[in-house]
Amino acid sequence: MPLPRITTKRQFVQALLIAAALLLPFVSISGNPFLRMDIAKMTLFLAGIPLRIDQFYLVLLLVLLCVVSFLLVTALLGRVWCGWLCPQTVFNDVAELLFGKLIIEKVQALARPFEHFVALTISALIAFNLFCWFMPPSQVVSHLLSIHAHPAICITFLLLTLFGYLNLTLVKRRFCRSYCPYGRFQTALMDAGTLNLSFLEETRDRCLRCSSCVRACPMAIDIREGFQIECIGCGRCIDACREVMENKPAGAGLIDYRFGTLKGTGFRLGKTTTALLFVTLLLAATLIWSVAGRNQNAFAVQRVATAEPRILPDGSLALAWRAIIGNRSETEQVYSIRVSGEPPNGVELLGQTRDIRVGANQHNEVIFMIHVTGKSRPPEKIVLELLCGDRPAGTVSVLP
Ligand code: SF4
Ligand code: SF4
Repeated sequence: MPLPRITTKRQFVQALLIAAALLLPFVSISGNPFLRMDIAKMTLFLAGIPLRIDQFYLVLLLVLLCVVSFLLVTALLGRVWCGWLCPQTVFNDVAELLFGKLIIEKVQALARPFEHFVALTISALIAFNLFCWFMPPSQVVSHLLSIHAHPAICITFLLLTLFGYLNLTLVKRRFCRSYCPYGRFQTALMDAGTLNLSFLEETRDRCLRCSSCVRACPMAIDIREGFQIECIGCGRCIDACREVMENKPAGAGLIDYRFGTLKGTGFRLGKTTTALLFVTLLLAATLIWSVAGRNQNAFAVQRVATAEPRILPDGSLALAWRAIIGNRSETEQVYSIRVSGEPPNGVELLGQTRDIRVGANQHNEVIFMIHVTGKSRPPEKIVLELLCGDRPAGTVSVLP
């Protein structure tokens, strides 16, 4: 009886991943990209929510969450990440699928040129896709079509394409086998319940020594010799063995995925996995709480370094300040600046402190003066308040 194949499931997961990578840059929510680090706007769009660079702690939190989640996946699934989801593996799998299925079997003479053509096409697509995570796809196209106006982007695109092409034609899986540090790092995260691929001890005696599993392995491993650090958990040897054994009386393959390193250990949360799960949940909750409760306005004030304090004809003092106002909401807002509470004697604001319009997810700078009138001594501290409409939106203390 035919046994289920791992390759079908792996290719399905990889197809989903490729579709997500290619299509997500085109998805938007309420006019905002679903997920993009927009360099021109210095804004990370996360599920459509804009996080400007001045909220960098949120971006750092997100990066930390991604790193810890990745470690958690490693502690749970071992090197299955490498064999199923790693971009290096996915690109090599796609390239091999196209070389093998579409051409080599049909038009032998065209195999080599077509192999290079496929590698170049895939590499160019990857390079284009990479740009789309940092700027709108339509902008990427227009920049690439105007090489004189945007030479840096065009050169970077060509270098990325060349890098991908050399990777697919020369390096191939040698990188996974000999250079990628992740395999070594992964062994440090092995836990009591980590998913492993192994030659099953209980059926070892039934092995026909046909070596189909070895021939199928892209990493040239003989999994019958036990766990090897180069194994990427792709499952090709499982399928090869199932193909051989499915017509035999017992009808079961001799290689399979197993949770835990020992026979029958099964899935369980070891100490490392539990700790990583706890940190992941904590970071995810902190990120959600921080994004939901973040201030919709940013307000910073600094002295204009190039403008000296001015003594006006009536003997009063005028100091030039620059206010930076950020609007993190989805609509234009109108702001004003005033001295908070009861203004200290003889202190007033001059210049553009009212009707300051700031577009959605934009910043605006205005110059204004703090005027200390007459013979009064300048106060030690002035608290400036930002109003959004008539709602308080932030305060800043300045020393005149
Ligand atoms: S031993 Fe099996 S799972 Fe490991 S890399 Fe080779 S074919 Fe893939
Ligand atoms: S494919 Fe299966 S039966 Fe053949 S050598 Fe490998 S483990 Fe043994």
